[in-house]
Amino acid sequence: MAVWRRLLYCISLVQLKMWRVDALPGIVMVMMLAAGCAGNEVVATAPNVATTTLAGVENATITATASSTASDAPPGEIAVQPNVVVTTAAAVLTATLVETPSETPTVSIAALLPTSTPTTAPASVIEPTPDGVVRQIRVPILMYHYLSTPPPGADIYRQDLSVPPELFAAHLDRLLVEGYTTTNLYQVVDALQRGAPLPDKPVVITFDDGYRDNYENAFPLLKERSMQATIFVVTDFIDEERPAYLTWDMAREMMEDGISIESHGRNHISLANKDDDYLIWQALGSLETIEYELGVRPRFVSYPAGEYDRRTIDIFQSAHYWGGVTTRQGATLDNQRLFELPRIRVRNTTTPDELIRLLSLDW
Ligand SMILES: [Zn+2]
Repeated sequence: MAVWRRLLYCISLVQLKMWRVDALPGIVMVMMLAAGCAGNEVVATAPNVATTTLAGVENATITATASSTASDAPPGEIAVQPNVVVTTAAAVLTATLVETPSETPTVSIAALLPTSTPTTAPASVIEPTPDGVVRQIRVPILMYHYLSTPPPGADIYRQDLSVPPELFAAHLDRLLVEGYTTTNLYQVVDALQRGAPLPDKPVVITFDDGYRDNYENAFPLLKERSMQATIFVVTDFIDEERPAYLTWDMAREMMEDGISIESHGRNHISLANKDDDYLIWQALGSLETIEYELGVRPRFVSYPAGEYDRRTIDIFQSAHYWGGVTTRQGATLDNQRLFELPRIRVRNTTTPDELIRLLSLDW
């Protein structure tokens, strides 16, 4: 990591600590953290590595528990329920989702393609000011992982998480046929917080983990169709130049073509049951790496393996993220729960018919 990049990180860490620790005099915190940032090495941590050292954090050894890079699987539900009380929505905006015919209509795909270039993501860098209205809107957020045919001998998780390019192309074409329009999480938050309009039948396409096949296989298919998507990347994996993951050049190229690049943490280690210092390291470290590399600050997190708790949300919120996506299944988004946005898991076995059925569910 470049020296000045580390310095930026330390400065932000100091800022975040000062906001959060009211009881301690700020100057003491600055001195402690400055000493910590100067004295400790940031160690990039791979999965399967047992311990991680944190920059600028006292007692900085924690135990890492990730077991594989594809540890979004198995598709378990998160265990933590929030303390947020969901009020009855004053205004429920419901995207129109209709039951669909079982056979694919014969409309030409070319005729359905948008004629104008989509808004490049992110649509906005200024957080929308909530207008005070409690809102729920139905916007399906699809969750993909690998976009390739699983290699021979792939385990059950890899198989489940892998959507072959031909199937993905069929998904995209079917979405167009059914009248869906891809949007992004920035526009979704704008709709939730201010009632900003969304396109008809909006859908958000997301990819977790930032695999290289997202660039090689998914990106050309999306670009051909002028469709948007969001990729949640693991920043240490890119920094380490792991061959299975994106490079920063790939991320930059996609970003210029309407793909949002957001945070999936630094190293894919669970964000549940962690102390504040560790969570700050994950939240700020991934945010500042993406901002440094791409020039755009990420505003959304996808919790690795879908695991988080109340502290995770508090820390990411303090670090000026706008929201988080989970592995909880559903399509109803609530502006009282921006850090617990549900998604719809797309599997290797999800046919276009099944995809449309999932999008049509009232959940
Ligand atoms: Zn993941």
